[in-house]
Order: sequence, then structure tokens, then C-alpha cells
Amino acid sequence: MLMRAQAESDAGAGTGDDPEGADVVIVGYGPVGAMVANLLGQAGVRTIVLERDTKQHTMPRAGATDDEVLRVFQAAGLVDQLLPGLDLGQSAQFLSVRGDRLVTMRPSGGRNGFPQVAFFYQPDLERVLHEGVARYPHVTVRMGVRVEGLHEDRGGVTVWAREGDRGRQTATRARYVVACDGGRSTVRGLRSIAFTGSTYAQPWLVVDAKLEAPLTDVTSFQFIGNPDRPGVTLPLPGTHHRWEFMVLPGEDHAELATLENARRLVSPWVDPDRITILRHIVYTFHARAAAQWRSGRVLLAGAAVAAEVLTGDSHHDRVYDVTGPRAFGYEELAAVLADATGQRVRHVSMPSGIAANVLRRRGKPDWYVEHLVEMAELFRAGAGAGATVSTTVRDLTGRPSRTIESFAAEHAGSFTQEGVPQLLHTAARFGLTMAGRAASVLRAG
Ligand SMILES: Cc1cc2nc3c(=O)[nH]c(=O)nc-3n(C[C@H](O)[C@H](O)[C@H](O)COP(=O)(O)OP(=O)(O)OC[C@H]3O[C@@H](n4cnc5c(N)ncnc54)[C@H](O)[C@@H]3O)c2cc1C
Repeated sequence: MLMRAQAESDAGAGTGDDPEGADVVIVGYGPVGAMVANLLGQAGVRTIVLERDTKQHTMPRAGATDDEVLRVFQAAGLVDQLLPGLDLGQSAQFLSVRGDRLVTMRPSGGRNGFPQVAFFYQPDLERVLHEGVARYPHVTVRMGVRVEGLHEDRGGVTVWAREGDRGRQTATRARYVVACDGGRSTVRGLRSIAFTGSTYAQPWLVVDAKLEAPLTDVTSFQFIGNPDRPGVTLPLPGTHHRWEFMVLPGEDHAELATLENARRLVSPWVDPDRITILRHIVYTFHARAAAQWRSGRVLLAGAAVAAEVLTGDSHHDRVYDVTGPRAFGYEELAAVLADATGQRVRHVSMPSGIAANVLRRRGKPDWYVEHLVEMAELFRAGAGAGATVSTTVRDLTGRPSRTIESFAAEHAGSFTQEGVPQLLHTAARFGLTMAGRAASVLRAG
């Protein structure tokens, strides 16, 4: 009863535990939650982060990321702090069991202004994110608070959380919730959102170590084609190093994951007495995605939503043109949005230079302004892509693509509330990229 009475308080208002409330509550302070907190902080959105653990993770999990994620760091004003800790431009090598190089893949593109692949030590990356969050007084991080329940009503969401294992339950009120609570997301469970798609659950033993010096014969990401036990070896910044070994069918996970076995398995590369093994644990990799990324005022991001989207075998290395069922112009789009929102929406054609100045004055970064202007010019020139209609959606999913009218009707609210949904979209994409890249990188191993 108490829950219900509090949950039905007015939009945006706080509760007894949290008189102010927040615009957004983020559940989980892993890398995705911390990035969402930075982006919202930057936009002046009042944000509360609720994290179950009492302190920052000290162990690495992710080790590699890409240029798109670096752009998100840049947009958050954190790329200069991140770059010194990155190892950029490593190649990936596929080796035979005898150590012969079968294939070397060198990332060469600079499409996004950064090298395509970047290696990092996750605790360092998270430290940059946490220091970034500290810039924003309107972002509060509460550690040691486990989210247990949610209640959404017309005006917002009440988030129920417990302090410690048996502490008191608190309620926090927000307009939106972003679930960044990892692959076993509590929030996804509370909203009954299933994981869909196929998975190829693969248990791998992960061994992280601190070395005395970087290995001179492993200077790039190496996949070891050993039919007896496929492996991966990967230098990380500083003197950190990771090995991953496939768990073979029928092997007992706990037995394989002993320190003794970890030492034995890395011994072809290093003298185990001269390294510090930080962790030796079996992880099971999946490739799945949540059926929905948004449910009412609750959005999922990061590992809570994605393990793989279009990285399944049949889509690998393919590029799709995805469009709706018909092409339309800006005037028509304005009419559709006006219809859906009940507001006055007009299209005003603006010279590129003026549009760029307006965007810059609103604080948009240069790369973003250039991209928007370039796209607008392409569309204005009728340069093909904007007017082409493809059958990709039907071909891939068997379902017809959506009309702009039905999209606008369903998301009418997003076109009338300021800023927050757009930011949350960017944040969700960041999380997807983090998790999606992991799925494809790891699958290659
Ligand atoms: C061995 C390994 C290697 C990987 N390699 C890569 C890689 O190279 N590149 C890559 O991009 N990705 C990689 N990944 C995946 C990457 O680690 C994840 O995609 C990324 O950590 C997801 O970040 P996240 O913030 O979404 O979730 P997490 O890092 O899982 O963080 C979730 C947070 O939510 C908190 N939480 C959970 N439940 C609650 C609750 N009820 N209430 C409050 N807080 C809660 C948790 O304590 C945690 O801090 C790897 C993963 C593993 C395990």
C-alpha cells in the first residue's frame, strides 16, 4: 500500500526519501551507466545513479573498443583524458597451432576521426568516466544501493532500492529510468522483457595478469587456432595482459578455473612465477538482444539490452540500406509531425552557414554540426539516398517496414518533451556499441 500511495505522487515530485526526485534515475554504474550520467550531466539533466556495489570495480572485463565509442567520449568532453591510457592501432593476428601467422588484420580506416580499434584497461577507463561525472553537481551517485522494484504511473517512475543487503528500502522518483544494470539486468526482469535471438553460449576461461614488462612476442591481439584448446592472447595498456581459453565440452568450469590451471595454461608465454595473476574465472559469452529497448519511461542500455544485433553470421560484413515504405519531403514530414503531436510544425529551409551557426551557438560540437550540415545538403540536392526506397526490412524480417505516420504517432511524446529522449537514445547507442563490439570481437575468437 505504501508503495502504491507514494508511486502515485505527482509527476517529477520526490518522495519522503528523496524530496527532490530527479529527471532521470540510472540503475547501474558500470561503464554504460557512467557514460549516460556524463551525457545527462553535460545537458544539465538532474540525475541520480543507483549502484549495487559499494565501490568501483577493480577488475577489467572489456579490453577493446572502437572509433564510435571514442566519439561518444569526445562528445562527453572526456576523450583527452582517455587517450593517454589507450593502446591504439593494434592489429589482430590469427595464428596456427605452431604459431605461424595465417592472417593479419590491420584496422586502417579513420572514418570517425579515431583509429578503428582501441585497447584499454577497464578500471582506467571507468576512472575517467567517474571523474567526468564529478564535474556535475546535479548528478548524484549512490553506491551500495540495490534496485528491487519500479512503479510507473502517468507522471513518472518510482524506483525502489535497498541499502546494502538488509538495509532500509528507499524510494526515488524520476521522469525516466535508464537501466544500465548489466547482462542480468534486474530492471529488464521487472519489466518482463525477454532476450531474443539465438545464442551460442560459450564458456571461456579468462586470465588477467600484471606482468613485469610487456611481452615482446605478443604485440597484437592474437587468436590461437589450437584445435585442442582455442585461445586468445591480448596485450592491454601498461603491463596488463589477458589470455582467454575455450572450456572444452564436458570440462568442469570450477576445476579448470583454479589458479594452478591458470598458471599452467599461460606458461607457454610467460614464467608464471614472474607475473601476478589478478583473476582467473570462467565467463559464458552469449549473443542476444532484448526484445525491447524501451518500455514506457524505462529505457535499457548497455549489457542490459544488447549482446548482439546484426552481428549474426548471415549479416557479417554486409551493409544494408534500410528505409521506410516510401520517400517523402521535409514539408510532408512537418505535416505528419504536426498531426501526431497536435502542435504547429513547419519546415523552414535555412542556408547551411546559418544553420551551422545556430547549432554551434547551441553548444553542439563541430563534428556534429558538420555532419548535420553535410547530410542536409545531400538531401537538399536530392542526392539519391534520401529518395531511395528499399525492401530491406521486409527481406530481413518478413514484415513490412513502418510508415512515418505510425512512427510519429507512437513517439509523439518524444517530439514534445525537451532533450531527454534524444540524449537517452545517444546513451543507449553507446551501450549497444560497447556490448555489440564485445560480442563480435569475442565471437571471432
Ligand atoms: C571477459 C569479458 C570480456 C569483454 N570484452 C569486451 C570488449 O573487449 N569490448 C567490449 O566492448 N565489451 C567487452 N565485454 C563486455 C563489456 O564488459 C560489457 O559490455 C560492459 O561491461 C557492459 O557495461 P554495462 O555498464 O552495460 O554493464 P556492467 O559493466 O555489467 O555494469 C552493470 C552495473 O550495474 C550494477 N547493478 C546490477 N544490478 C543492479 C541493481 N539491481 N541495482 C543497482 N545496480 C545494479 C552492477 O553492480 C554493475 O556495476 C567483455 C565482457 C567480459 C565479461
